[in-house]
Amino acid sequence: AAKAAGRDRLVLFEPALQQEAQERLALLADLRLALDAGQLEMHYQPQIELASGRLVGFEALMRWRHPKRGMVPPAVFIPLAEDGGLIVAMGAWALQVACRDAARWPGELRVAVNVSALQFERSPIELHVLGALESSGLAAERLEIELTESAVLKEAHHAIDLLTRLRALGVRIALDDFGTGFSSLAYLRRLPLDQIKIDRAFIADLDHPHAGGTARAIVSAIHDLAHALGLHTVAEGIETAEQQQVLAELGCGLGQGFLFARPLPRDATQAFVELAHREGLAAAREAQHGRGPA
Ligand code: C2E
Ligand code: MG
Ligand code: MG
Ligand code: MG
Repeated sequence: AAKAAGRDRLVLFEPALQQEAQERLALLADLRLALDAGQLEMHYQPQIELASGRLVGFEALMRWRHPKRGMVPPAVFIPLAEDGGLIVAMGAWALQVACRDAARWPGELRVAVNVSALQFERSPIELHVLGALESSGLAAERLEIELTESAVLKEAHHAIDLLTRLRALGVRIALDDFGTGFSSLAYLRRLPLDQIKIDRAFIADLDHPHAGGTARAIVSAIHDLAHALGLHTVAEGIETAEQQQVLAELGCGLGQGFLFARPLPRDATQAFVELAHREGLAAAREAQHGRGPA
């Protein structure tokens, strides 16, 4: 009976799997053309100093405006770009565009660019960073590279060397989605980092009626750890005023999330920056909320 069921299952699932594989291949074929066709864009989400409400910079987030499917989320096309060998070219492009856009922002505003594990391991990332800084004229201190724990963990020695060289240029390094990976504390201590980004999952639970206490303990522990290592903390995915309040009480330095602003297209970012510069963050947020989510 088990065998028959197994066979039935195959019959049921095979066409679905095949269709999914074909769908992926079709999307990858489209993605191969996307960069040259100008379908990729960088959007920017504000990062705020929680105690003062000051705008400190933006995280650059890639978007794919597919001609037929509309906006394809990075959770779909970044893994595809990695599998299809496109991530290196796309990553180099992201660095160029983000640095060029940030160079137009006033003041000391920073830009944080995500770099995936494959890019970090296989590409001349250092040359790409230098090229982007040179062609944009952006000061190295205004660029931050975001890496996940898995990217850094795979090849520890390579990672430490590379991060050390990038920091020697003046570039800042942030560890993204912290708390979701498995880095040992001993290892974390050896990494040349500036900042830890506390994963959104913990922030989302902060004002949860049941999970709130545990989430608060975890965020507090991460914050203390970062402090002991001399690192700054960024809370990701702040959506409510209650979450912001708890984070401020815990002493978390920076935050980003839909509460402040969604990722904005380049022109809206430029407008946001200029308004925040002239009239303060509240005015920029107000103008943004009035316009609705991008
Ligand atoms: P990430 O680096 O952790 O980026 C934060 C994600 O959280 C973004 O999703 C952002 O839009 C979302 N987010 C921000 N605030 C909130 C909030 O308050 N609530 C909720 N629910 N979400 C919030 P996005 O833009 O879809 O990007 C997803 C992931 O794709 C990123 O996670 C990053 O790992 C990857 N990614 C995005 N752009 C790039 C890129 O240029 N290069 C590479 N290698 N990866 C990228
Ligand atoms: Mg990130
Ligand atoms: Mg993150
Ligand atoms: Mg993430």
